[in-house]
Amino acid sequence: MTAARLHKFGEPMRLDQIPIPEPRSTDVLVEVKACGIVPNLGRIIANFFETDGPSAKNMPPLPAIFGLDPTGVIARVGDQVRSIRPGDRVYVNPARSCGSCRMCRSGQPLDCPFFTLQGYFGRSQEIIKAYPYGGLCQFITAPQDGLVKLPDSVSFEAAARFGYLGTAYGAMKKLRVGPGRSFLINGISGMLGLNAAMIALAMGATKILGIGRNRALLNRIKALAPRQIEVFASEDAQAAPTDPLVAWAKSITNGQGVDTMLDCLPPGAPASAMMRAMYSLRRGGRAINVGAVLDELPLNAFWLMTNRIALEGSVWFSTGEGEDMAAMAAAGTLDLSILEHRVFPLSQVNEALASMENRNGGFSNFIVDLTGV
Ligand SMILES: [Zn+2]
Repeated sequence: MTAARLHKFGEPMRLDQIPIPEPRSTDVLVEVKACGIVPNLGRIIANFFETDGPSAKNMPPLPAIFGLDPTGVIARVGDQVRSIRPGDRVYVNPARSCGSCRMCRSGQPLDCPFFTLQGYFGRSQEIIKAYPYGGLCQFITAPQDGLVKLPDSVSFEAAARFGYLGTAYGAMKKLRVGPGRSFLINGISGMLGLNAAMIALAMGATKILGIGRNRALLNRIKALAPRQIEVFASEDAQAAPTDPLVAWAKSITNGQGVDTMLDCLPPGAPASAMMRAMYSLRRGGRAINVGAVLDELPLNAFWLMTNRIALEGSVWFSTGEGEDMAAMAAAGTLDLSILEHRVFPLSQVNEALASMENRNGGFSNFIVDLTGV
C-alpha cells in the first residue's frame, strides 16, 4: 500500500510502498477513504515538540505515518470482532488507552495515564508501536472499540472533522450546554470554535455568545442562527473586570455573566485573551479549556474562590460521544453542510499542510483523499 511517511522532523513527508498490516483478533482493518488534517500537524512535524509542544519521548519513531482523523470502510475484521462487519462505514477515533489501569477499568479511558492519539503522539511508546498507522495511508488497523459507525448521509469528508467536533462536544457535555443556559465560546471563528457553535445548536443551546477577531467571519457565524448566536469582536477588549467584552457578556445575560465558557483559542493567543472570557462568567460559572494557550494564566486564586469559579481542561472525546455526533448528523440537528472541504490527494499532503495558513476560519475543512491512490 501507499503511505505518506515522515522520515525526518523538519522535512516533507514522502510516499512509500509498505505492506498492508494484519489486524489482530480484536482489531479491524480499515480502508481509509479520507483523513482530516489539523494545523498543528504542520507545527509538530516542523519540530514544534522541541519548544512548546509535546516532548520527543511522546513522538512516534521514524519513519512515522501521521493522520489523526481517518474515515473509511471496514476491509477485514479479526476473529473476535462481533458487531462491526466488512463494508461498514466508520470514523476511527484515534484515542488509545491501556485498557487495564484503574481509570480504564472504571470506564474513563480518556484519563488513562498512557493516553495516546493514534497517528499523532502520546504517552505510551508501547501503544504507538501497537497502532503505528495514522490515516495518511491506505489501510490502518484499529481496535474494535474505537470505531464510530457512520450513517450513509454523513460523507467521509465531513466525518473527518469529528476530531474538532468531538473535542468540543466532550467538554460541552460536562458544561451541560443546552436550552436556558448561556454558553460563551472564546475563539468562535476558528476550527474548534466554529465546531463548538455547531454542536451547541445541535444540543439545543438558546444563548450562544462568541468572541473572535475577524468581523466578516463573526457575521457569517451569527447568520447561522441569528436568534441564538451573539458575537463580539475582541480587538478592543482588555483583560480586566471593567473590560467592554465583559460588559457585553453581562448585557446579554441580565447582568449576571455567562453560565459556562469554552476556551478554543489557538497556540500563540495570549493568556490575557483567555482571562477576558473567564471574567465574563457569572458567580458559580464554569469554564473548560480545550484551546492551546501556551502561556501561564494571570489567575487570581482569591477571585476564583470568592466567585465560586470552576476551570478545568479537557482533551478529545469518547467513542460513545462520537456515536452521539453521528446520530445528530444523521438527524440533521448537527448541520455539517456548512463545512467547505478543501480536498488534496495523498501525493499532495505536504502542499495541503502548507496551504492551511490560508483558510476561511473554521469553515475550511482540510482533507486528504485516499480514494485515488
Ligand atoms: Zn489505562
